[in-house]
Amino acid sequence: MPKPPHLVRPLVQALHAYVPGEQPKIKGLIKLNTNENPYPPSPKVLAAVKAAVDERLRLYPNPTAERLREKLAALHRCRVENLIVGNGSDELLAMAVRCFVEPRPASRRGRASRHLVQFFDPSYSLYPVLADIHGADKNAFPLEPDFGIPSVRDLSRSRQWDFAAALTFVTTPNAPSGRGYPTRQLDALCRAHKGVVVLDEAYVDFAGEHALELALKYPHVLVARTFSKAYSLCFQRVGYFVGHPALIAALHKIRDSYNVNGLGQIAAVATLGDLAYYRANFRKVIASRERLARDLTHLGFVVVPSQSNFILARPPRLTAEQWLAKLRARKILVRWFAHSRVSDSLRISIGTPAECDALVRAARAILKQA
Ligand SMILES: *Cc1c(COP(=O)(O)O)cnc(C)c1O
Repeated sequence: MPKPPHLVRPLVQALHAYVPGEQPKIKGLIKLNTNENPYPPSPKVLAAVKAAVDERLRLYPNPTAERLREKLAALHRCRVENLIVGNGSDELLAMAVRCFVEPRPASRRGRASRHLVQFFDPSYSLYPVLADIHGADKNAFPLEPDFGIPSVRDLSRSRQWDFAAALTFVTTPNAPSGRGYPTRQLDALCRAHKGVVVLDEAYVDFAGEHALELALKYPHVLVARTFSKAYSLCFQRVGYFVGHPALIAALHKIRDSYNVNGLGQIAAVATLGDLAYYRANFRKVIASRERLARDLTHLGFVVVPSQSNFILARPPRLTAEQWLAKLRARKILVRWFAHSRVSDSLRISIGTPAECDALVRAARAILKQA
């Protein structure tokens, strides 16, 4: 059948879709490429999900994830009106673009704040894709060489940063570097902004501090959280925003009626009932992260200090792309971002201690042959 390009909007024809990390089904593969948690969900979560698989599957789930929002409100000492749950936080990031950013009219040239989606480079590579899908303008501002966020003063001086941008995404801790930011600095950044700021805290449970208070302090700040990474629940797709009831109510208006599947809601509620299990896992992941960083540093890698469940490491002797292939040949999958500022580095998710040891052994063997 010939394909009908004329049926597809020019904007969509021109799109470069987001490229997620591979999910190959290779037996014995050590998968350190998509920042999944190496530990399974709590036995209580598995039991709750299994117990829910019965004839109730014919019913629609709760449209607003009410029980989950009640539990989250108690956890974060906020109101249910401060919360919206999404089909993963990715869905909410997309909704934020649709809710707060005016698409750019075809006739307009140059940049205007109300059409602008702004973010730092490098950060989560989904943000520019979301802006393109929406027909919005993009502003990617370089992080400092050590992946620090420039001060408000330096951002003001740069003339490129727009404090009135309709929507600004800040990945904190940063991905793919793992670098964390003090709440004090994020507070100053948020305070300087007029448009909506989303603090994307996907990895914050592995960090020393979080900035949730800013979403309850400022009416234009949203904090994004997810059950995927720290709570071992990628498969179920549950994330949420915390923020001012006016922003949250606006987002609810554009939400799909049943955006969060029922088993995901049950799994997330059960997760919040067993936080001690997860906090023990955070400690294990953090201990493995520090050991892996040390081991790779000894082998000549340059490792960025991480506050997340992955590390960014610049490998010695061979290019990052060559390392990617050589590790893959040894059934170890890591992530490499080809066309990016960090194309000289590998992003390595923290696995179990045994998986991290296997990576270090493989790296040692590769170096012997290099
Ligand atoms: C993984 C990730 C997300 C998305 O998480 P989901 O809740 O699984 O959609 C959002 N932001 C960042 C920075 C991430 O790394």
